[in-house]
Amino acid sequence: MDIDKVMQYLEELYPDPDPELKYENDFQCLVAVILSAQCTDKRVNMVTESLFKEYPDSFAMAQLTQEKLEKKIFSLGFYHNKAKNVLALTKVLNEEYSGKVPRDPEILETLPGVGRKTANVVSSALFGANRLGVDTHVFRVTNRLGLVDAKTPLEVEKQWTSMYPKYVNHDSHFRLVLFGRYHCKAQKPNCAECRLCDICKYYKENHKSL
Ligand code: SF4
Repeated sequence: MDIDKVMQYLEELYPDPDPELKYENDFQCLVAVILSAQCTDKRVNMVTESLFKEYPDSFAMAQLTQEKLEKKIFSLGFYHNKAKNVLALTKVLNEEYSGKVPRDPEILETLPGVGRKTANVVSSALFGANRLGVDTHVFRVTNRLGLVDAKTPLEVEKQWTSMYPKYVNHDSHFRLVLFGRYHCKAQKPNCAECRLCDICKYYKENHKSL
């Protein structure tokens, strides 16, 4: 089956997919994922290294003002909204969840600044929830390969979850992200070195003379 061939190949490429975002507890994981919107993980890590040292949990983070947090995360882009969301999230976590990150992705999704992708990524990474986070890389790679035929991230998630339940987990998400980030890139996919050409819909459509 094509899906097994794809996922075996990705497992060979990324046998032990370590998250590129750095964090030391559940709260930091959630904040790092929120801060990573429209930004590289490398840049987020540069900012969070000192931020998390000074403010390691939601109670410490709650000491920050909007202005101070904006200054600390300025280089990440969308700093105003990101700071607003992180502080609102911190308040809800402290007041309603004793500072703990909820395990249930449905609950996570109701928190300030947490969309479906973030809820899925965080709940599968931290708590092993059977959810697939669909970011821009997962969306592109799964459609290009023809494993799904979807117009929105939610459609990708729904089709993937119903067709490939075995691969609804964080490792699969992360391997698809790494493959999209470094191999099947948005502008110039590295098809010349890809072992999936024979099953890839995008490759076949763009190499019709072969
Ligand atoms: S053949 Fe090209 S487009 Fe298809 S998955 Fe491989 S790199 Fe991506």
